[in-house]
Amino acid sequence: MGELTPMMKQYLSFKEQHPDKIIFFQVGDFFEIFFEDAVVAARAMDVVLTTRDSNKRNPIPLAGVPIHAADTYLNKLLGQGFKVALCEQVGETAAQGGLVRREITQILTPGTVTDPQMLEESKNNYLAVISSLPGGTGGYYGLAAVDVSTGDFRINEWSGEDALPLLGDSLLQLQPAESICCSPEAAQQLRPYLEPQGLSAAPYEFSAGTPRVKKILEKQWGETLWEELSLSRYPAATAAAAAALEYLKGLQHPARGKHFRNLELSLAGGWMPVDGITARNLELTRTLREGKRKGSLLDMLDHCLTAMGRRLLCRWVEQPLLEKNLIEERLEAVEELRLDPLLRGKVRDELKHLLDLERFCSRLCSGRVNARDLVGLKETLERIAPLARLLDSCRAALLQSLRQLPDFSAITGRIAAVLVDDPPAQLREGGLIRDGCNEEVDRLRSITSDGRGWLLQFEKKERHRTGIKSLRVGYNRNFGYYIEVTRPNLELVPRDYTRRQTLVNAERFITGPLKEMEEQITGAREQLVQLEFELFEALREKVITEVPLLQAAAVQLARLDCLQSMAEAAERYRYCRPRFSEKGEIRIKKGRHPVVERNPGERFVPNDLTMDDKSSVLIITGPNMAGKSTYIRSAALIGLMAQIGSFVPAEEAELPLFDRIFARVGASDDLSRGLSTFMVEMQETASILKEATSRSLLVLDEIGRGTSTYDGMSIARSVLEYIGRRIGAKTLFSTHYHELTNLEEELPGVKNYTMAVREKGKDVLFLRRVVAGRSDKSYGVNVARLAGLPAEVLLRAEAILAELETAASRDRVRQLSLLPFVPKRPREDGSAGKILGKLEELDLNRFTPLEALQHLHELQQLLFEDDGADSEGED
Ligand code: ADP
Ligand code: MG
Repeated sequence: MGELTPMMKQYLSFKEQHPDKIIFFQVGDFFEIFFEDAVVAARAMDVVLTTRDSNKRNPIPLAGVPIHAADTYLNKLLGQGFKVALCEQVGETAAQGGLVRREITQILTPGTVTDPQMLEESKNNYLAVISSLPGGTGGYYGLAAVDVSTGDFRINEWSGEDALPLLGDSLLQLQPAESICCSPEAAQQLRPYLEPQGLSAAPYEFSAGTPRVKKILEKQWGETLWEELSLSRYPAATAAAAAALEYLKGLQHPARGKHFRNLELSLAGGWMPVDGITARNLELTRTLREGKRKGSLLDMLDHCLTAMGRRLLCRWVEQPLLEKNLIEERLEAVEELRLDPLLRGKVRDELKHLLDLERFCSRLCSGRVNARDLVGLKETLERIAPLARLLDSCRAALLQSLRQLPDFSAITGRIAAVLVDDPPAQLREGGLIRDGCNEEVDRLRSITSDGRGWLLQFEKKERHRTGIKSLRVGYNRNFGYYIEVTRPNLELVPRDYTRRQTLVNAERFITGPLKEMEEQITGAREQLVQLEFELFEALREKVITEVPLLQAAAVQLARLDCLQSMAEAAERYRYCRPRFSEKGEIRIKKGRHPVVERNPGERFVPNDLTMDDKSSVLIITGPNMAGKSTYIRSAALIGLMAQIGSFVPAEEAELPLFDRIFARVGASDDLSRGLSTFMVEMQETASILKEATSRSLLVLDEIGRGTSTYDGMSIARSVLEYIGRRIGAKTLFSTHYHELTNLEEELPGVKNYTMAVREKGKDVLFLRRVVAGRSDKSYGVNVARLAGLPAEVLLRAEAILAELETAASRDRVRQLSLLPFVPKRPREDGSAGKILGKLEELDLNRFTPLEALQHLHELQQLLFEDDGADSEGED
């Protein structure tokens, strides 16, 4: 490589300090990136990769971007998960013989960005900081979730044997843009939770002694905080918070944490914990397949008009409430807004125009707000009072509380008094400050504008004096003011003119008085621009002192937006207000699935669901595609929506207050995860059996399906027995194991339901109606016909099915597997293969019916030979 230049040595010394970051190294008007980073970054930013010192033997790879356009490129890198350190020139350029002094001025990471272009409006952008401490059983795990763009700062802590999965669930819910972990062991333990989600936690060194942690937190939130929140009880959570603050400090974020209003302890605080699997299966905030917001429950409820509202609504959906009065409070407000479309319309009209105050505050504290933004803030704040007035006559407590939105007239008055109505985006070109606001500004302005008058006057005078009609006074950046005289008139130029510039057709001159005036005007202009900037900064500082109030208003406005959004959904989709019963009964009349009912195409058929205090398990059988999954998920979604404080998709709904709602899906519905799906399915089931109580709602969709028929059925049955006998949770269980319907007679509280179908010739028509009783056929063959299998295959399948059914009923085993034409249980000893082989050899066209029966009999014998070995204990 040869000898490196001093500048490259300087670069490498920075790179050594920040090996995991791409260094944006300022060279004049460019940021340059060198060596391997250049190769990586050039590809990521889609810029040309060049070289430095290209005539040397081993030129250094180089990628460069102009500083004025750097944001775009930074965003590209951050969007792809890179971290970037800005290394800027500071102090005098090229002082002391050559090398410019440079410093790392800011570090940008995906979890700490505040640039609106980088952020998704309706989503929080979390940095997750994980800590772990030894002690107790299995240690303590702490999590700090920080959204630098909104000032949201929350911590949580877990201990005991479930600590790790609970932390994993939290991370899943947060979907952090960036995670760091203070303990290498915890990072290792968390991998199985994070990796499948494409998340990973970078190591971060932080020594968490209590005195240090306490000091860091007190510095941020004041001395009383520690006692107020009894923080000494949460060593891991506070360590994570302190680590987060230290990490952010290290990044030299320009907001300096000024906008982290509160430290919020979210220690299972009144929320229903919704585990990650349930959230996924019910598609609460993202769809299962594509992970998109569109098509999720959140998407149905989201008619918010502000970004703050959208983010809060997401939290509401992820954190259903447990306390009845809090839920009723929301319902009350939703109902009032629903019943008054006029009021709702007006509220929506106002909300539509509001700035994202939360993110505004973080940009404000980072010094990234210009005069236009402040005028925008004023316009938003001016809408608050009328909005509060709109809610004046509301009865719902949550709407009433909105009337107490802070009064911002002082600050809006100040902004209006200082800034012009439509200021320029640039802060250093003047034109910001209103006339009459500041005497000095007015004086300097009058000099510059008087100057203009003087110049006109001067031009007139000089024309008169010299007799040159075409004489012109002008200004240019490089030469300042000048008098221009065209070539033919040059002999008329008086002696006191001094030449400044020669053009092709003219000469430009200056005179003493013009020079003097020039100095006055440019001096005044420079002063004016500087003074305007200072006044703007003073105003900005003043507004920063209002941040706590602005943030308080943001919270209230977000809440109003969520409430009106749920009212809007209730109206549009004809939802009803749920009622909560103390008796532990579920009575849903004409319930629907909030998402499936919106699908275009088939008209949605509503269904009732009734479970009195004595019934605990509903077993739902029915052919594939009949609507089992949809039916049981509707119930779970209705339960969740009710506890979110939303209206629900039904004509009437009476529900108990659930302590938890779980949804699990049998493994074969979830091939996307690969690997030992059955193992996963069983782990997921195990976690429910541990955590569910008699006040929980369980929705189990074909559990036991991930293994062979008999295993699966046995497990399904014992799980149901356990739930029925031990837990008593309200359970909806869909299955294709028809044998399970026998439980109705054996276990009190179990009821059978089935999806009604009508046979039309050989076709099956799904009625989508849930009726009491059991289905006696699985209609697999009929469904296969619907799916378009060739006629020959269907014919064979039917014949085999008929035989199997007779055989089975003779044997009192009413096994109807998902694919009835495949032997009940694949056998490793190859007898299945034997049967299939024989089937294959048969030439049907040459058989009489009698011969066919004969052959079937033989096949059956083969089957029974094998079954005999392990048929005991099956009924
Ligand atoms: P299963 O679980 O019994 O195989 P699903 O619940 O997955 O059936 O439903 C299959 C499809 O039938 C769904 O994707 C949906 O389009 C439709 N469907 C289900 N329930 C209804 C209903 N009540 N009304 C209308 N269409 C429905
Ligand atoms: Mg299903």
